[in-house]
Amino acid sequence: MDFELNDELKMLKEMSYKFAQAEFTGISHECDEGEKYTPDIRRKAAENGLIGAWISEDYGGAGAGFLGNAIIMEELSKVDMGIALNVVAATFGCESIVHFGSEEQKKTYLPPVCRGEQVSAGAFTEPNAGTDVAGYKTKAVKDGNDYVITGNKMFITNGSVCDFMVAQCITNPEGKKHNSFSLIIVPASTPGITRNKIHGKMGIRSSDTAEIAFEDVRVPRANLVGKEGNGFRQLMHFFDTTRVMVAAQALGLSEACLETSIKYVKERTAFGAPLGSFQLTQMKLTEMAIKVEALRGLIYKSAWLLDEGRPDYTLAAMAKYYGGQTAVFCANYAVELHGGYGYIDEYSVQKWYRDAKILELYEGTKEAEIMTIGRILQAR
Ligand SMILES: Cc1cc2nc3c(=O)[nH]c(=O)nc-3n(C[C@H](O)[C@H](O)[C@H](O)COP(=O)(O)OP(=O)(O)OC[C@H]3O[C@@H](n4cnc5c(N)ncnc54)[C@H](O)[C@@H]3O)c2cc1C
Repeated sequence: MDFELNDELKMLKEMSYKFAQAEFTGISHECDEGEKYTPDIRRKAAENGLIGAWISEDYGGAGAGFLGNAIIMEELSKVDMGIALNVVAATFGCESIVHFGSEEQKKTYLPPVCRGEQVSAGAFTEPNAGTDVAGYKTKAVKDGNDYVITGNKMFITNGSVCDFMVAQCITNPEGKKHNSFSLIIVPASTPGITRNKIHGKMGIRSSDTAEIAFEDVRVPRANLVGKEGNGFRQLMHFFDTTRVMVAAQALGLSEACLETSIKYVKERTAFGAPLGSFQLTQMKLTEMAIKVEALRGLIYKSAWLLDEGRPDYTLAAMAKYYGGQTAVFCANYAVELHGGYGYIDEYSVQKWYRDAKILELYEGTKEAEIMTIGRILQAR
């Protein structure tokens, strides 16, 4: 067993962090305040091989695997988790194309995203069904060589900026609930699509989130990803990878909270001594550091298993669950350690506190992860 990253991954880690420091730092505050999406940074990131790093070189990716991708997400999230999402999740939804799509779909959709020219989205959640992933109502009805799609999607990352989305639709209404869904690639320019950006998010405000309406949206049946009726199972497999990447966001944010807090408590004094000399302060730093290390172990192992071709659904859910909890915990302590200064926007910790909460909500709420883990533990 070797816990050391190889030289390539070490270089990728260093390069990713330098990129984020150089490109994100100066605009982070402005993008947060003004809800500004960052297409120029996305393109630059692509030039540096930071988009679709997990996708094979045959389809334009960097071939750095899921561990490489998790490391990129971690390092970028140390500086700004919202902008990190704009970069790394520019491929969101493509996981299904990679795993289940045809050769033609892979060649058509993956390279432009890896080059930073296009953006994808994964459109699953609906206004009336999020956690209940078998409760989606969007329908795709066969008509000649086409599907005609009708329904609504909610909270879709990249929703108003994407070029195409992979949407979960009911194609077999007569089948058993879990066999009734299919994933379909929907180009965003198809007539009948309305996209509205959602404003007023608590955190990750530079990321794009939208609601999408499909009204008689006609796409070729060739846009079906994999087999008809397999959409539910494909979505579960999708979570094997995407939950690890969300956990990596949490890791980056938590590390930033810890490092910034260490620096602050060494400089700030109270009662004639540095804050860091007080045992209560040390306890907070210690608890943060232990959680960060434990989280890194869960994420790197999950990502390594993915690269070995042995995805572990339970471990990915654990990483996601623990990631959200760790990020919220560390951001809370970071604000507390900064005292009143932690509450104003002169310091990044107040932003990280707001950003952290989404990690317990999207890609499965923490309750959804508990349900998953609890069920699987008993089925073993
Ligand atoms: C910024 C942002 C970006 C997002 N990006 C995407 C995206 O790109 N694509 C996409 O498809 N979705 C996306 N989502 C949606 C997100 O995944 C859902 O919001 C999330 O899954 C929860 O669904 P919901 O909002 O419908 O809440 P609900 O499912 O209504 O849940 C509400 C509460 O009830 C709890 N709950 C539900 N069922 C149970 C149960 N059986 N037992 C106990 N508790 C339960 C939940 O855990 C939660 O606390 C995004 C959301 C946000 C806010």
